[in-house]
Formats: sequence, C-alpha cells, structure tokens
Amino acid sequence: MINLEMTQKMIEIKNGMNGVAQSMLRPISRHYDDNEHQYPKELDVFRSMKIMSRPKKKKKDGEEQNPDKPGAKKPGSNLAMTITIEEMCWGDLGLLLSLPNAGLGNAAIIAVATDEQMEQFGNKWASMAITEPGAGSDSGSITTTAKLDGNEWVLNGEKIFVTCAERCDIAVIWATVDKSAGKAGIKSFIVEKGRPGFKLDKLEHKLGIRSNDTGTYVLDDCRIPKENILGSPEVKQSTEGFKGVMKTFDNTRPLVASMSLGVTRAALDFTREKIEESGIKLDYEKNPNNVSSLEKEFYLMEANLEAMRLLTWRSAWMMDNGEFNNLEASMAKAKSGRQGTLICQKCCDLLGPLGLSCDHLAEKWMRDVKITDIFEGTGQIQHLIVARNILEFSSKQLK
Ligand SMILES: Cc1cc2nc3c(=O)[nH]c(=O)nc-3n(C[C@H](O)[C@H](O)[C@H](O)COP(=O)(O)OP(=O)(O)OC[C@H]3O[C@@H](n4cnc5c(N)ncnc54)[C@H](O)[C@@H]3O)c2cc1C
Repeated sequence: MINLEMTQKMIEIKNGMNGVAQSMLRPISRHYDDNEHQYPKELDVFRSMKIMSRPKKKKKDGEEQNPDKPGAKKPGSNLAMTITIEEMCWGDLGLLLSLPNAGLGNAAIIAVATDEQMEQFGNKWASMAITEPGAGSDSGSITTTAKLDGNEWVLNGEKIFVTCAERCDIAVIWATVDKSAGKAGIKSFIVEKGRPGFKLDKLEHKLGIRSNDTGTYVLDDCRIPKENILGSPEVKQSTEGFKGVMKTFDNTRPLVASMSLGVTRAALDFTREKIEESGIKLDYEKNPNNVSSLEKEFYLMEANLEAMRLLTWRSAWMMDNGEFNNLEASMAKAKSGRQGTLICQKCCDLLGPLGLSCDHLAEKWMRDVKITDIFEGTGQIQHLIVARNILEFSSKQLK
C-alpha cells in the first residue's frame, strides 16, 4: 500500500537538502552558467561524502540478502533520493550533475561491478558513454567495438554528449564485442583517464546546464585490462544481458524526473513571489470560473507539478519495494520532462521582462530544464516504452 505522507525522516532530508541548495548552489548558480566548463571547486566538499554507494548486504536468518534483488524491501532509499534531487535541483541542476563521484557511470558500476571492481573503481567518479554520432535513442545500434587481444580489450570508436566527460576519473563505455550478435554483443567497459588511445576530443557549448562539462571521447586502439568488463563477456544468443543493462534506466529515470521537478518548482516559486508582489492574491478558495487567466494558468501549472511529483514518487516507491517499474519510470520521466519544459517557459511568459532578464534565474531555469526531456531517453522514447508496456508489444513490434 503506498503512503503519500512524508515520514519524519523524509521531511528532515527535504529540509536539510533545501538548506544545502539554498546556501551552496543558488549563490554560485549564475557564476557557473556564465563561466561554462569552469570546474565548480565549491563542490569539492562533497568529495568525501558517499553520495552514491552500494547498499550494504543485510543478514536475515543467517543468510546474506542483496537489497537490490527484486522483491527485497528497501524502505525509502530511492524515494529519499528523488526528494534529495528535487531539492538540489531547486538549487541548480547543472551543479547537481557536477557533484563528484555521482555520475551515471557510478550507478552502472554499483549495479553490476564485482567486489574486486568495486574495490578498484567504487570511489572514482564515472561518466557513462553510450551515445555515438549514429546511435542515440537506439542504443542497440552502437558501433564502438571491443576486441579481446590476449589479456586486454582493444576499444575503437567515438562517444558524444558525455556528461562530466572531463571531470570524471573513469568512463563506462558501451561497445560491441560481436556486431553480428546485435544487442546481445553489447557490453560495458571501464576505461581510466590517461589510457593511451583514450582522448577527450572536445567539450560542447550548450543552451543549458552550462556548469556541467558535456564532451566527446575518441577511442583509438585503446587497450584496457581484460578484467575491466562489467558483467559477463559471454555473448549469449538472447538479449537478456542487454535488457538487464537497460534496467539501470528504470532506476535512474525517476531521478531525472526529480531533476525536472526541482527546476520547475524553482520557477514556480519565483513566479508566485512576483505575482504576489504585483498585488495579485492567489486565492485557492475562489471559483475557478471566476479567476483571471493569469491565476488560472498558475493553478494549472501547480497541478501539473503535483502530477509530475506523484508519478515520480510512485516509480521510486516501486523500486524501494522491489517492484518492476519500467512503465511507471517512463511515465514519470515523460510527464516530468515535458511538463517541466512547458512550465518553465510559461513562467517566463508570465514574468514578462523579469523572465528574460539575466538579473534573475528564471531564464536560466527555462534553458536548464530542457535536458530532462532529452537525456536518458527522450520524451518520445518514453512514450514508446509506455505504449509497448500497455499494448504488450515488443521493441521489434513497436519502433
Ligand atoms: C547535455 C546532454 C548530456 C548528455 N549526457 C549523456 C551521457 O552522459 N551519456 C550518453 O551516453 N549520452 C548522453 N546524452 C545523449 C542523449 O542521451 C541523447 O541525445 C538522446 O538519447 C537522444 O539521442 P540523439 O541525440 O542521437 O537523438 P536521436 O535518437 O537521433 O533522436 C532525434 C529525435 O527523434 C526522436 N526519435 C528517435 N527515435 C524515435 C522513435 N522511435 N519514435 C519517435 N521519435 C523518435 C527523438 O525523440 C528525438 O526527438 C546527452 C545529451 C545531452 C544533450
């Protein structure tokens, strides 16, 4: 049974994180937007904190339990993460993405690394490189190759739009070990910075989240130890392995939805403040047929924010309770990414000149929020996943 009331612990997390966002992120938000690619050194204080870590195995009846196993109860850890991310992104989304040791690659490592790999790479900052010039939404069509040569894998290819490409210590690179096997041949590999043949080729100049370094990697006969493969090197004639890797996104999509929640709430808070300063009283008791169009627009945006949050919390709650949430995670991301983008734009409309002035952050939030409808699967791709789930079609039947 889902309980929508926040526990005392959740309230404390929310308040604590809002304090961090308010005191540490907001004050430097504009600076790092203006100074694209400059490393936010203020975030170094987070280095010693284990923002992302593998949940400890708990002993039950003398037996070791993996809390990530489907069916295992993990009261609240994912829900707490969505609340944390909403608050931090209320502070600044680009800076949240720049927190040390908390990359998407870290999530992949935590999910599948062996104990030895955790020992070696668990404390390093990891980017995740899937996208290529010819493969974005269809990640099954990547062409970067990995060939085993003695005790080493040799990687060749190009990866684009990698978040934290420069700042990270290691990269989780998706490559195919056997093109003829299709998705079954796709594996992920840990590549350390400084390896010969591994180069950061360029950094992108972007519309939003400019405090984060998005870049291109080139792998040219890059040799890495045989042990740096994540998961089994075996190519099974089924796509189960690939589906397993894609399940990481069921965990991370609710988090991206929370990013949009945070930015959108920031825009709405600012807009409410300015509406009220202009003398308009927002009165929720009034008949909706008897309010100005500005008020109506504002209430509708607030209702949409609430819908975004409820979908996001449901998908995180399902994770906490070991339930399969592929449909719900995509619903949350589709709704949150799209509505967040529309609401932040509408706030800038309602704010008039204040919405476009660089003296305020509203215009920045409008630019920043757009990424939540793009990375980790665009809005259109989330709709496809939702449709496949509801219609019970496979990815081959509904493309
Ligand atoms: C700032 C930023 C950071 C990023 N960070 C990372 C990262 O860390 N790691 C990483 O690997 N990638 C990252 N990406 C890449 C991102 O995941 C891809 O941009 C995204 O998956 C879309 O792929 P694409 O750009 O190739 O677009 P395409 O796949 O070419 O799609 C173009 C358009 O067509 C639509 N479309 C595609 N297929 C379908 C379909 N079947 N039905 C309907 N519409 C469809 C898409 O929704 C989109 O609107 C990042 C991108 C950006 C902009």
